[in-house]
Amino acid sequence: MDSMRVMVVGAKGRVGSRVVAGIEEADDLVLAGAVDLDDDLDGLVGREMPQVAVDFTIPSAVFGNLEILLARGVHAVVGTTGLTDTQLAEIDRLAREHEVAALVAPNFALGAVLMMRFAEEAARHFPWVEVVERHHEHKLDAPSGTARITAERIAEARSDAPAPAEETESAPGARGGRVAGVPVHSLRLPGSVAHQEVWFGGPGETLVVRHDTINRDVFVPGVLLAVRAIARHRGLVRGLEPVLWSDA
Ligand code: NAP
Repeated sequence: MDSMRVMVVGAKGRVGSRVVAGIEEADDLVLAGAVDLDDDLDGLVGREMPQVAVDFTIPSAVFGNLEILLARGVHAVVGTTGLTDTQLAEIDRLAREHEVAALVAPNFALGAVLMMRFAEEAARHFPWVEVVERHHEHKLDAPSGTARITAERIAEARSDAPAPAEETESAPGARGGRVAGVPVHSLRLPGSVAHQEVWFGGPGETLVVRHDTINRDVFVPGVLLAVRAIARHRGLVRGLEPVLWSDA
């Protein structure tokens, strides 16, 4: 079988550089272009003829990159954040027009995707649940996007939210913030990368689903999984879930 030709856009970036290394190590993939800000993406696509392109760039660049890639019939795997709903709708239209797929995922860490799935499953049986996320001290937003999505999926999965006791907070925020009715607690500490625990309580038992990110290599297996599977899809694919589970 011929190796799949894969281009990386944002190849010198923190994540992009690891994806480049992952492709170079894979027997079934060939690096067909490592593109950065100063490169002519359209020209390189014409010369290198990639089948799939991976984009880990910046929010202001990603949509323009996708317009070029999809118009040239290249499947796209996108980790860059910040695409608007209007842009996503246009990406879906462009991808269908050119009979390719664009997979856009907020989190390519396989363990994080599994953590959310397990949490969703547990929430059907344990409606008492709180999310604790921990990140490095430089993270500006709280709660994390992953914590937010986890809480929303838990809220959708559980039949009804338990009524907590009439609480008072003598220190405001002590009980965390609420996302879709689920308490979420954000810790910011040096020595942390990205971590999350989802705590479930039932009569006489506690269940914790936990995920720890050690470094940015965490994204590579999920990106390569998406690269290998994307040709089976058409149009916009949201998240890694449809690649991992046929029922997602
Ligand atoms: P980064 O280190 O800043 O890397 C971005 C790279 O893209 C830089 O090398 C930059 O080049 C390059 N670039 C900028 N504009 C470009 C353009 N028009 N064409 C080609 N390359 C361009 O950032 P990062 O930490 O790798 O993160 C990249 C993006 O992925 C961010 O949006 C981040 O939020 C997201 N992300 C997503 C996931 C996920 O799982 N979905 C995980 C981690 C990060 P210069 O340095 O020359 O400007």
